[in-house]
Amino acid sequence: PLGFTRQRGLQPPPGMTVERFMAAIDELRKELNGPTDLIQINDDSVQLVDGWYLDKPATTHDAFHVADPENLASSAVIFPRSTADVQTIVRWANRHTTTGAGDKARGIPLYPISMGRNLGYGGAAPRVPGGVVLDLGRNMHQIVNLDGGNASCVVQPGVTYFALYEAVQKLNESQPEQPLWIDTPDLGGGSVLGNAVDRGVGYTPYGDHFANHCGMEIVLPDGSLLRTGMGALPGPEGSDNPAWQSFQHSFGPSVHGMFSQSSLGIVVQMGFHLMPAPPAHQSYCFTFPREDDFAAIVEVIRPLAQRGVLGNIPQLRHVVQELNVTGQTRETFRTVGNDTTKPLTADEVHAAAAKLPLGDCSWVFYGTQYGASQQALDDQIADIFSKFSAAIPGTRLIKPQDVPADHYLHSRALVCAGVPVLRELDWLNWVPNGAHLFFSPIAPTRGEDARALHDLIKELHVEHGFDLFPTLCVAGREMHYIANIVYDRSDAEAKQRAVRLMRKMIAACAARGFGEYRTHLLFADQVARTYSWGGQALLRFHETIKDAVDPRGVLAPGRSGIWPAAYRGQGWEL
Ligand code: ADP
Repeated sequence: PLGFTRQRGLQPPPGMTVERFMAAIDELRKELNGPTDLIQINDDSVQLVDGWYLDKPATTHDAFHVADPENLASSAVIFPRSTADVQTIVRWANRHTTTGAGDKARGIPLYPISMGRNLGYGGAAPRVPGGVVLDLGRNMHQIVNLDGGNASCVVQPGVTYFALYEAVQKLNESQPEQPLWIDTPDLGGGSVLGNAVDRGVGYTPYGDHFANHCGMEIVLPDGSLLRTGMGALPGPEGSDNPAWQSFQHSFGPSVHGMFSQSSLGIVVQMGFHLMPAPPAHQSYCFTFPREDDFAAIVEVIRPLAQRGVLGNIPQLRHVVQELNVTGQTRETFRTVGNDTTKPLTADEVHAAAAKLPLGDCSWVFYGTQYGASQQALDDQIADIFSKFSAAIPGTRLIKPQDVPADHYLHSRALVCAGVPVLRELDWLNWVPNGAHLFFSPIAPTRGEDARALHDLIKELHVEHGFDLFPTLCVAGREMHYIANIVYDRSDAEAKQRAVRLMRKMIAACAARGFGEYRTHLLFADQVARTYSWGGQALLRFHETIKDAVDPRGVLAPGRSGIWPAAYRGQGWEL
């Protein structure tokens, strides 16, 4: 893991001297009344070590930095033990103010993380240098409730997919008549709660994580508590509402959406529905021969997805990802020339793919079907295959038994059955000191849009000298296009190039109406500005709510491009 020697030492929150900040920290230590390691001060003695996904990536800064890591370093990391600790910290942050824009009081900026493994979107970095990170995951990792009958759970921030999976497996042993699944994203080390609030996705039919949540408990920016959904109505004799994990809404305007990708609250408990395991499931892939088949593939997916013929939201990947998911370096596949800084050429990609288990092709579709019996699944897959092969000559069907045990299809089959894995970490071997940055626009599921979006992203990747790794999660009406920019973290020039590529893609895609569903924190301002309909009506509405709910701007200023009044127009926006 890379490490950086600090040049500047402890960076206090904006407007504060080190002395004032340390005095405030002393006060908080007394209030929390816990062991000294409840608060870590990121002073000279703490080096900026990126760490590694499995151990725990850095909480001092963004482990996958695209800028100078010191520019996005936190002043301190606090590890609350309980909801009461979180409330104490939030009230403390409100009390220690400096003066911001328009003479407005500005509290200590707090950035909550659950596991801090949100790599590619900013990791554990605070958006404001010197912000204080609340690492909720270390001490708050209880599965608060696991209800086999209702098929639901309630988790604290530190519950990872692996931990929830283990617990649900145990539960399943005790109720074999209704086994349950969890839903996991590509990597299982993240927080179930953290991923859901960031609107991450997985790949079983419960893959929309925020949509499948049910009920939250939240510490608001003034330190008070809120329960969403039926949880707002107390249960008898101080118990939780009996329908809290049954019905997502409460009474009146819906507020739960305001706490996703948000800086309006710290979620300390969150409920989720769990999917009853289907009797049978089968993963498979199709390969398509030509680059140009892309638009036609998307056209075939649309009606199949809308009619519910496809069991899950399939992934459509460019064949180059057959190469990088082997965990080998880019140079393993290089045949032409020896410039190790250059992306592979199309010829190199195809020559290498030809030697891998799926053989040469251009696009790979990974799907999974769920059903009552193996026969039903075989029939479904045969039907889907016939639709694709009628439209796209040369479509091939590959099942897990057709490929070696280490082929990615087997990892995909696990993920699509809710089993957490770590396979996609292998991508990072592509270049030395590999890190990645996601570019993730949304487009309608329509061939012409798909082609326009892909051409645009491809052209800009070529211009900026990066390999293009497109993965598309294609639903019936929209698709998430995820381009993963893999770069060398020790190469300042490559990082600057990656940033320029991101900025150009955001602007060029927005001009065509394609906007990001999520982004790295450094690009949040630019992305927020692209949602500009009605004279930036959405951003203004967000700011109005932010100022009302968090007048001192203590909670995650700058998150999703929303700046509290005390920060606006002071040069914070990027
Ligand atoms: P993971 O480790 O699951 O990938 P993180 O813990 O890094 O995810 O969380 C992703 C992002 O979601 C964080 O950067 C933060 O903005 C937000 N977040 C995480 N946990 C919470 C929480 N408990 N309350 C509010 N926001 C949160």
